[in-house]
Amino acid sequence: DAAANPVKRHGGLRDQDRIFSNAYRQHDWTLKGAQARGDWHRTKDIVLKGDAYIIQQIKDSGLRGRGGAGFPSGLKWSFMNKPGWEKDNRPRYLVVNADEGEPGTCKDREIMRGDPHKLIEGCLVAGRAMNASAAYIYIRGEFYMESDHVEQAIQEAYKAGLIGKNACGSGYDFDVYLHRGAGAYICGEETALIESIEGKQGKPRLKPPFPADVGLFGCPTTVANVETVAVAPTIIRRGASWFAGFGRERNAGTKLFCVSGHVNKPCVVEEEMSIPLQELIEKHCGGVRGGWDNLLGIVPGGSSVPILPKHQCEEALMDFDSLRDLQSGLGTGAVIVMNKETDVIRAIARFAKFYKHESCGQCTPCREGTTWLEKMMDRFVVGRAHEREIEMLWELTKQIEGHTICALGDAAAWPVQGLLRNFRPEVEARIHEYQQKNGQVLFGGLLRKDT
Ligand code: NAD
Ligand code: SF4
Repeated sequence: DAAANPVKRHGGLRDQDRIFSNAYRQHDWTLKGAQARGDWHRTKDIVLKGDAYIIQQIKDSGLRGRGGAGFPSGLKWSFMNKPGWEKDNRPRYLVVNADEGEPGTCKDREIMRGDPHKLIEGCLVAGRAMNASAAYIYIRGEFYMESDHVEQAIQEAYKAGLIGKNACGSGYDFDVYLHRGAGAYICGEETALIESIEGKQGKPRLKPPFPADVGLFGCPTTVANVETVAVAPTIIRRGASWFAGFGRERNAGTKLFCVSGHVNKPCVVEEEMSIPLQELIEKHCGGVRGGWDNLLGIVPGGSSVPILPKHQCEEALMDFDSLRDLQSGLGTGAVIVMNKETDVIRAIARFAKFYKHESCGQCTPCREGTTWLEKMMDRFVVGRAHEREIEMLWELTKQIEGHTICALGDAAAWPVQGLLRNFRPEVEARIHEYQQKNGQVLFGGLLRKDT
């Protein structure tokens, strides 16, 4: 409720407030350029302040995970430091999820291209918070330039003594490794990612146990998204209250948004959390193609979240609470804009095809359910369905949602639910149009005249 939890608006982020000052690589991204922009400044002091200090700062800042789930970062980073952790002699790891694969999402890519040192420095700071000895950065296989830049940044940081033995002269030893994926979306799920680093097939594990207890190579591990890790040093240098001063309670800070689809200037831009969705598009993306009135709907957080119809886009704030209240989600902050030229049923059917293709197949509701979703959506695109199959399609999504090992099942179900909730008249019209041309359709797409 906006009155109970008002937004601290600054009317948009000023350049000097942006954490990622080198999106689009207008400046030197190597160590020299990064240091000139303030990276690696007094990192030793941060490391020396220790785990409790870093975790408290992150908690106070209100940072929530930027990979999609929005779990409170300070709390998550504290899970590995349960009382008595010092007596556990297993190695401890930070794993950075750089397998950015969610359709519409391209923010971590910009960080790794233009600000790779923010990520490496973030690994050291977050790693120190968890008392980890090493970070594994698991990077999407298709990210060639990003791998090059991150690898070069790692080598530069080693050479300059910023990581490795006695990192930054702090007495703390910390290694960073880069591990390349091989093109499976499911390896972005944290436990599948861990399996993949271990050399196995990328299939999610049941949780619990959570990685903080049994993670990489059976050791305590925290998996965190690139953006989450990369903002940590700046938050601590500028102060938790500076970060918490943007957005609103439970939705603090600045955030990278990636806007694609029917806008005049698609872009990745850092903005304050809780910026109105319409303002984000008009201010940074040159507006909707054909004007705001030509808008059909927007997927506000990557392909896993339900589409919003135009009237809801006008009330939406880009934060966790506002988008949850509208029965969608902030997800990865990937905004996919669709104007009235879009065949919305076909667009959502394309998402269904994607999830069917990417399902790892180990649980039945997801393996079978995504196959059925794809088949039914293919028929809905042409309208070859009976009206009562709309309810059956809804029921199918409910059979998948919440009944699977990992979030891929939910991610497959939610966009279809969004379509049926918000664009049901379009779905019905498509069915009627088909029936007028071809005769009555029975269950399963059969035509009465075929029977
Ligand atoms: P999740 O809510 O299950 O977990 C969030 C994090 O909190 C995990 O790291 C988990 O280990 C930790 N956690 C939660 N409860 C815990 C507990 N009790 N003890 C210890 N740790 C705990 O969600 P998820 O499966 O990590 O992520 C799903 C989201 O990922 C989706 O919402 C989607 O938006 C997003 N996603 C992003 C991409 C991308 O490219 N960035 C790709 C696919 C999906
Ligand atoms: Fe695999 Fe789908 Fe089950 Fe996830 S939900 S474990 S992707 S079958």
